[in-house]
Amino acid sequence: MSLTSLRFYNTLSQTVEEFQPLENKKVQMYVCGPTVYDYCHMGHARSYIVFDVIRRHLIYRGYTVNYVQNFTDVDDKILKRAKELDVNPLELSRKFVTAYFEDMDRLNVMRADHYPRVTEFMEPIIGIIKALVDKGYAYESAGSVYFSIDRMVSEVGVLSHQTYDSLKVGARIEVDERKRNPMDFVLWKAAKPGESLSWDSPWGKGRPGWHIECSAMSVKLLGEQIDIHGGGMDLIFPHHESEVLQSEAYTGKVPFAKYWIHNGFLLVDKEKMSKSLGNFFLIRDILQKFSPETVRFFILNTNYQGPLDFSDAGLDEARKSLARIQNTVAEIKAREGKPGSESSGQDIAILIAKSKAQFDEHMDNNFSTREAIAEIFEFTRTVNRLLMGSLSGDEAKQISGLYDHFSNILGIRWEVSEKKEDVLADELMKLIIDIRAAVRKKKDFETSDLIRSRLKDMGITLEDTKEGVKVKRQ
Ligand code: AMP
Ligand code: ZN
Repeated sequence: MSLTSLRFYNTLSQTVEEFQPLENKKVQMYVCGPTVYDYCHMGHARSYIVFDVIRRHLIYRGYTVNYVQNFTDVDDKILKRAKELDVNPLELSRKFVTAYFEDMDRLNVMRADHYPRVTEFMEPIIGIIKALVDKGYAYESAGSVYFSIDRMVSEVGVLSHQTYDSLKVGARIEVDERKRNPMDFVLWKAAKPGESLSWDSPWGKGRPGWHIECSAMSVKLLGEQIDIHGGGMDLIFPHHESEVLQSEAYTGKVPFAKYWIHNGFLLVDKEKMSKSLGNFFLIRDILQKFSPETVRFFILNTNYQGPLDFSDAGLDEARKSLARIQNTVAEIKAREGKPGSESSGQDIAILIAKSKAQFDEHMDNNFSTREAIAEIFEFTRTVNRLLMGSLSGDEAKQISGLYDHFSNILGIRWEVSEKKEDVLADELMKLIIDIRAAVRKKKDFETSDLIRSRLKDMGITLEDTKEGVKVKRQ
């Protein structure tokens, strides 16, 4: 097995590069975690599933991956939400950390090696800010501390690939008297009067700015230089670029991270799914209707860099496509190890080796899960043909082994976790809605009323909305 064939897009160089970790087969990997002030939505699911698959593939390729993901458990949004709900901000963030694990465990996202939280990382964070001040890369102003961009101008734009001047124009929009340069960013925020949650520091009471936590956690837990740093595309600027500047200023080592990987957005009506826009769907609500396997399949059936439109129809489509694979796997498992069945008379080992090589090659090529899934379908078509003829128990076992391999990398279990009756009930409901629409079109209101009243007897009401018919169950 070659360790040099893996290549992927690096935001830092804007090219696809062959992967060469800093230290032989060890991979130090950091992925930015959520701000825990609410339940995770499907946009978060996309990011964490994407990096989970990247990690799984690295492990398969023989690397030892040390994976860190943080929790931002103190920030403006958390404090605001806690105030609105009149609860302790730390209790609030703890609750959503627990909820995060529930959601991610259900989605079969492997647990990270470390989950540092800002509130538990105050000492190292303050230590780094202090060192930056001592080295002249940061300055105190009215109890807050800012990173001074002036000494790092040559590095500005390394990740966002924008010029210093164009970024400065953007930064000027928000005037802040306390900054020497509009591009300077906050490392330590002085506590505002009445703010309950703050920590002591050499500059008085306050709390860290957002960017510094990831530098501190990455440097302390993974080392001054790491192999892979990941997150959603929206983090490239200013978050990740600020991380680069402050980390490199602190350690004196370039680059802070050798490879930067960014996932594309999950969109709703062409806009990024986000808390602030209110166009979000929570993972836990979606998992009421769709299985974790369907969610993973839906997300991975698009390559990680591109946009992905979220819709129920898209998830439905994913469920149906996935069922085709699941049905075949179920049949293969049933034939596995069955004594007495005749051999197919074909060289199954070669068929499997070829398909595995294709799948692995797609994964090696910038983690192209879409093409890798297409290969699973190709293989499944071949297996379906084989299932129509004779197949020995041992051959079925070999085939099953390849499905296990696909499953390990993509983190999609092939066992059907949705109850068949639930899926059937959903499909029948859709059929009834379609029939009702068809009879209404023909102005046959007698039949459409009959449908509505019979459903009502069953405790089901249909509501006609702009987005289509909504089904409500009592
Ligand atoms: P946040 O809690 O908003 O900082 O998000 C945590 C991670 O999820 C970041 O890496 C974001 O880029 C990512 N993320 C948030 N919303 C989306 C989305 N709609 N599509 C893809 N990734 C997202
Ligand atoms: Zn971060």
